[in-house]
Amino acid sequence: MAKVFLFKGKEKRVEYGHPWIFKSDIESISGSFRPGDAIEVYSRGNRFLGMGYINPKSQITVRMLSPEHEEINGDFFYRRISSAWDYRKKIADTQSCRVVFAESDFLPALIVDKFGDYLVVQTLAMGMDRHKEEVVEILDEIIKPAGIFERNDVPVRELEGLEQKKGYLKGHFDTKVQMVENGIKFTVDVENGQKTGFFLDQKENRAAIKPLVKGAKVLDCFSHTGSFALHAAYYGAQDVLGIDISAHAVEFAAHNARQNGLEHICRFETANAFDKLRELDDQGQKFDVVILDPPAFAKTRSAVEGAVRGYKEINLRAMKIISSGGFLVTCSCSHHVDPDLFMDIIYSSAIDAKRKVRLVEYRGQAKDHPVLLASEETQYLKCAILQVV
Ligand code: SAH
Repeated sequence: MAKVFLFKGKEKRVEYGHPWIFKSDIESISGSFRPGDAIEVYSRGNRFLGMGYINPKSQITVRMLSPEHEEINGDFFYRRISSAWDYRKKIADTQSCRVVFAESDFLPALIVDKFGDYLVVQTLAMGMDRHKEEVVEILDEIIKPAGIFERNDVPVRELEGLEQKKGYLKGHFDTKVQMVENGIKFTVDVENGQKTGFFLDQKENRAAIKPLVKGAKVLDCFSHTGSFALHAAYYGAQDVLGIDISAHAVEFAAHNARQNGLEHICRFETANAFDKLRELDDQGQKFDVVILDPPAFAKTRSAVEGAVRGYKEINLRAMKIISSGGFLVTCSCSHHVDPDLFMDIIYSSAIDAKRKVRLVEYRGQAKDHPVLLASEETQYLKCAILQVV
């Protein structure tokens, strides 16, 4: 088995539990290997640091699998997946949940989402992709889903030298699958929906809007398949407007409203939320609750400046159209916009909107997306609930 030796000082992060070793951390490699193979990692001083898998094509050249000397085989994946599933059974409603959250579950680059009776899998690095069939068999054995679908049609795979692909991994089934979240029915398009089809990380934040929306007029921007909008209606809102730029998402949102008998309360429009917010402000319209859940505006550190402008614009507009005493539920899923920066943006939006704003609750991602303290990249979702006085 090949051995990777790190430059002096580069062992610390690994010892503290960060699972990534960058190309620039590596001083030398002894022995031969194929991309995706398990290797051993050592400090400059020849101290064993753990096992990982290697891919010289990737800037993240090694992803750590274990601090122990252990074989990376079917048993290893069985133990890791079982413990991920046991954790979900303890802390989540497993009808719909994230079963494996990659680095946070010590299974780097593996994502598994459960929507009702079906699983969706992503293997986003060479080493994990190599074990895909084994992982699928283990998931099948432990969870016994009706079917499993692969959503590896993501550009990040190309950084690893992997092709983009999607398709069935177990069974052939209608890829529009049914799930229930917080008592509300959703149809999830696991084949053509965004990411794995549904954003499970917001499940607890959706439930958290319950006390704010009774009898309210609600605007849900970036509504995707209508999840926040439907929660608002389900919890007693009087009138809900959802906006998304994707016609496919809007079509599913309208369908989801109908299957819950909420179509008389929820309307959905295909539009650019930036334009729509400006238009509503120009028209002098008011809402009791506005929800903002945009896509990641900053996918890289260099994109942060532009992202700040984007967040500022939508938050400022939203604050202007919220009636006095109403609420803003504002989110960011850009890891590079950290919680302090996000709150600064909200505060400066409030100043420009000339509104007084109180923080009611500050929230993060759902418990089935745990944050690994050693890996700050695993903390990405921010959700601030504010009252606009
Ligand atoms: N709130 C949703 C998830 C939102 S994901 C949920 O809880 O399920 C971000 C959404 O923003 C995607 O559906 C995407 O289609 C949409 N989007 C991206 N840019 C947009 C824009 N400029 N205006 C409106 N929607 C946009």
